[in-house]
Amino acid sequence: MKFKAKLKKEYDIIVVGTGPAGGTLAEQMSRMGASVLMIEKGAYHPKWIMGNQVSPAFIADKMGFLSTREGLTVARGITVGGSAVLSCGSALPPYPGMFEKAGVDINEEVKMAHDYMGVDEDFPDHLIGKNQMHIMEIANSMGYEFRKMPKFINREKCKGEGCMKGCPTGAKWSGRVPVEKALENGAHLVTCAEVTRAIEVKGEVVGVETKNGDKIYGNTVVLAAGGLGTPMILKKSGISEAGDKFGFDPLLFTYGYNKDITTVKDLDMGIVCDNYMISDGFVLSTVMDTLGSFILSATAGGGWSYLHKTHKLGKAVSIMTKIKDDLGGKIYDDGTFSKPLTDNDWNKLKKGEVHAIKILKAAGCRDIFSTKPFASHPCASVRIGENVDTNMESRIKNLFVCDTAAFPEPMGVPCVLTCTALGFKMADILKERLGLQKAI
Ligand SMILES: Cc1cc2nc3c(=O)[nH]c(=O)nc-3n(C[C@H](O)[C@H](O)[C@H](O)COP(=O)(O)OP(=O)(O)OC[C@H]3O[C@@H](n4cnc5c(N)ncnc54)[C@H](O)[C@@H]3O)c2cc1C
Repeated sequence: MKFKAKLKKEYDIIVVGTGPAGGTLAEQMSRMGASVLMIEKGAYHPKWIMGNQVSPAFIADKMGFLSTREGLTVARGITVGGSAVLSCGSALPPYPGMFEKAGVDINEEVKMAHDYMGVDEDFPDHLIGKNQMHIMEIANSMGYEFRKMPKFINREKCKGEGCMKGCPTGAKWSGRVPVEKALENGAHLVTCAEVTRAIEVKGEVVGVETKNGDKIYGNTVVLAAGGLGTPMILKKSGISEAGDKFGFDPLLFTYGYNKDITTVKDLDMGIVCDNYMISDGFVLSTVMDTLGSFILSATAGGGWSYLHKTHKLGKAVSIMTKIKDDLGGKIYDDGTFSKPLTDNDWNKLKKGEVHAIKILKAAGCRDIFSTKPFASHPCASVRIGENVDTNMESRIKNLFVCDTAAFPEPMGVPCVLTCTALGFKMADILKERLGLQKAI
């Protein structure tokens, strides 16, 4: 679905990208009475295409075929609501001290985001799924400390499956929720419009230009186009160092087969073990590929050795190892990107895999193997304290960055809660700048 508002001559604020960070910011600013335009590259995919095996193909960038120059698959959503539309609805706070080290305190905003998104710390057992609860029991009897994953999912609407397929019931929070509120507040939205660059006059931003050459004017521009989208716009705006390196939280799935306890129908990432986060830089969580992403990983992703196991997916249990990777790689001017995994990254993945194998064996799983790594959190490409200042402002006046790109370092855990918190932080900064009243 395409949205094209009748545009004003000039806006107080143009927000580029409608993920959790951009959506939250747009809602807050429109509540304060600012004139706000949201520009989104993706479409407003209708609710009826969500929640089935083919939904991710519509929503994911390049139908899921986006990858690094080295061939590692990277997932991101191009749709109103951002990648959060494809998320598992999992909410964890950032690594302790991660933002403070860069000179920014977002603790208060993380708490605000937690309430705003309705994070449920004790998601019902029956929605998590009895088999995941069983794996948790087995792992914890071995000394692990798995717990229920906090979820930004409304338990009343949830049917306990389909998060990464876009959520069939609308139970999961995403950037769409604040975008819809911003529209009610009078904000404008243009979809299927890709911003290519910020327009600058004498060191100050005055608007943006889209791929088809439209120029749209605004006094303040906030880039919230995500860890890969934002650096591209900055590069084309003359800030060539954007995307000089980045992080993307690589992960791998370790599969075993046991038809009696398959977690294929359970909620994605229903349980988590984050004890190894600080000491070893990884978290463990039960989740498995969608059918499409398994086939993608086993073909274009290079996992030919496990392609023949596709038909057994319905009898599988899978534990994901997700790591906080080293900053590195590069986003190039043509939009391609490179991110070879370092030895340190591999060591973290392998350490997590050893635990996953132990747990799967104890659960009676057979034929255990791990997939090729994959990533879904591009971030830290325009870092606070390095590429933007502690107000998230670039060296072009009134041009800001508010999304995963601004993370001071790779995240290592789910990003949505932190992006929403950054949306609140940015709103507070702009409220002061523009002399607006705080939203109630
Ligand atoms: C499969 C999957 C599962 C995930 N699961 C979880 C989870 O359970 N919990 C969690 O916290 N995180 C999860 N994540 C990560 C999380 O969704 C993202 O990190 C988060 O949405 C990033 O938010 P953002 O606001 O920075 O950007 P995004 O959500 O990426 O939004 C950026 C928006 O900008 C748009 N855009 C890009 N370029 C342009 C341009 N040039 N012009 C205009 N618009 C543009 C994009 O279309 C997009 O809508 C998952 C991600 C994936 C892919």
